[in-house]
Amino acid sequence: MRQADQVRAFMFEGLGIRGRLVRMDQTWREIIARHDYSDDVRTLLAEAATAGVLLADNLKGRGSLHLQLQGDGEVHMVLVQCNAGLNVRAVARGEVNAARGVPTELLGGGRMMVTVDPGGGADRYQGIVPLAGETLADCFEDYFRDSQQTLTRLWLGGIGGSAVGLMLQRMPDAEIDEEQWRTLGMLADTVRLSELAELPAGELLRRLFVEYDIRLFDARPVGYDCRCTRAHLANVVRLLGEGEVTDILREQGRLELTCEFCNKAFRFQPDEVDAVFARRDADDTLH
Ligand SMILES: [Zn+2]
Repeated sequence: MRQADQVRAFMFEGLGIRGRLVRMDQTWREIIARHDYSDDVRTLLAEAATAGVLLADNLKGRGSLHLQLQGDGEVHMVLVQCNAGLNVRAVARGEVNAARGVPTELLGGGRMMVTVDPGGGADRYQGIVPLAGETLADCFEDYFRDSQQTLTRLWLGGIGGSAVGLMLQRMPDAEIDEEQWRTLGMLADTVRLSELAELPAGELLRRLFVEYDIRLFDARPVGYDCRCTRAHLANVVRLLGEGEVTDILREQGRLELTCEFCNKAFRFQPDEVDAVFARRDADDTLH
């Protein structure tokens, strides 16, 4: 049976090396719905989204992860947000129907920012690495090495209606046999995206790492959740400011805001806009 929309963690017994598999089907289709992305942009977004989910699988409670790729190419921004419950949303901005053959070239030069909000009032922390690798997986490997002091390998991609990924990581403070680490990397290099998309996790791992003793943990479901609500968009109305909003209302009769992630439109009639600003005034009086 296909095991869709989930993360599976696993570890190699006694080697100090762990891994994760991610597969998104329905979640992935929701991410790309209502956007006119080229195949290259879809691949780039699939790689970023799967990496974001793999990173977020470490989070607890109300933690969340924000991944931002900023480039000077046709695609100037890719955003991925994923919370500890593995609810993810993602978007690419710029000339999103551009084609390059090599997805990372769409970004050109730039940087990758990973911001982790551990939740529970703990401080956020941020890691920044240049988009210097040949692939996005290379950039994430740089991030893990520089910001997390952890050697990690990643295989990421999009195929058909799925976004898939595989991660191998050395456990901190574990004694690692360098030869074993290299061998596991070479075995994982043989994985095909179609296998990541189609095979049940246990079967895939047995095929890839046939001579290894692997402990497979329970699946964690991944889902799409845009989290854009009218209340959230009302905040955007407030940020635009009363002056600008009044101008728009005068010209267009109403205000329409679109969620950049899911492209859902939120319309505000003049009386609703008034209510937004009236509430702010009321809040100001209260504080
Ligand atoms: Zn939305």
